[in-house]
Amino acid sequence: MLKTRKNTHFVSLFTLLLTFVILIVGTLPIASADWDQNIIEINAAYEVIPEDMVVHVSKEFTFSNHDSDTCFWRGYYSNLNYKLPDGIENIRVYDNDDDMNFFKTDEKYSYYTFEFNKNVWYDKSYTFTVEYDIVTHKNIAAFHISENGDNTKVTVSIPDGYDVSIDRNEYTKTQQSDVNTYRFDKGLNWDKLCFVDAVHPTEMQVIKDTIHLKEKDVKIIVEFWDGEDEWGNEMLSAAIESLPVLEDVTGLPYPTEYDITITQATSVDTLGYGGANNGEEGIILLHTENYETLIHELAHYWTRECDFESIWMDEGYANLYTYLVLEQNHPDDAAARKELYFEQYENMKPDYDLQLSDLNVPDAFNSENANKVDYGYKKSFVLTYNKYENEGLESIQVSNLKR
Ligand SMILES: [Zn+2]
Repeated sequence: MLKTRKNTHFVSLFTLLLTFVILIVGTLPIASADWDQNIIEINAAYEVIPEDMVVHVSKEFTFSNHDSDTCFWRGYYSNLNYKLPDGIENIRVYDNDDDMNFFKTDEKYSYYTFEFNKNVWYDKSYTFTVEYDIVTHKNIAAFHISENGDNTKVTVSIPDGYDVSIDRNEYTKTQQSDVNTYRFDKGLNWDKLCFVDAVHPTEMQVIKDTIHLKEKDVKIIVEFWDGEDEWGNEMLSAAIESLPVLEDVTGLPYPTEYDITITQATSVDTLGYGGANNGEEGIILLHTENYETLIHELAHYWTRECDFESIWMDEGYANLYTYLVLEQNHPDDAAARKELYFEQYENMKPDYDLQLSDLNVPDAFNSENANKVDYGYKKSFVLTYNKYENEGLESIQVSNLKR
């Protein structure tokens, strides 16, 4: 009687109580419950509230017991196991009448058990609500829509004046007074997290410092939105500590005449990429990126000087130099990044048989070209890294200097 159940987030969501039946039948396995016949409707609302620096999430669940086994065996459902995101605050669970008990059942995967205030017999429904907050920054709300099932309606409300990008586009947008609402109707599959990036661009704050490099002093200017000081300071110190190492690993002094401006940006500004090195105009860096992407963009000052004939060499060496800088300044990050890139390369290899000479970096990075471009980057790194392992850094420096 054991049937294999569809492997969804809802696996073993409900405890089926078969007290009477077990007395009679003895060994009836609980997994015989026909979970698939049940219906869960979810009405989820994500509301960006800048004054509280949170995204307030409210999910109304309506569970309908259509499990025919509970009819025949007179069982009922009395709780729900459900995954909530990590790091959330102010969780509340309640039905129309009262608060409900809930507890974390699984630390690793962040599953919670919500205990119903009544038993849900065959053909009956139960409605309850789960609320929580996702902490945001003063002018940035970057968060995931974390849902499942396909009876799920999702709305996202964001005040006017924000630059918004949402990973999927099957929404209807409406505006009411000073709030924009993005509505995803029922019927969509939510197995994957959906990233929402909402930025309220303010006047730029500026911090700067000067670094003494081999042949010149270079000014570093970092520009960021109000409330993003932590990001700004991290980028300034990452630039200061990385530039001398880039001179060492490439064997070339900082090769351009100009100072370096690093500007915090939205994914609209970066056209979907993590960042871009615009030469004299400076580097723009997505606000969700950390110093690893900054080092990659800084490394392009050197790779461009080498005038490589192919894009893959430009990107491959930028990532090799990023790795070598990290190896000195953040060895754990270096090892993790290398391992991840090799692993992603191996995983994608069967699907993308891309000749590196064919690699191009499209103007905009989006869901249609993401995997192929990503594969090209990873393959470029693997090749340049292997060359570095086999031939050594000096030989790379010599061949790059010859250009
Ligand atoms: Zn690059």
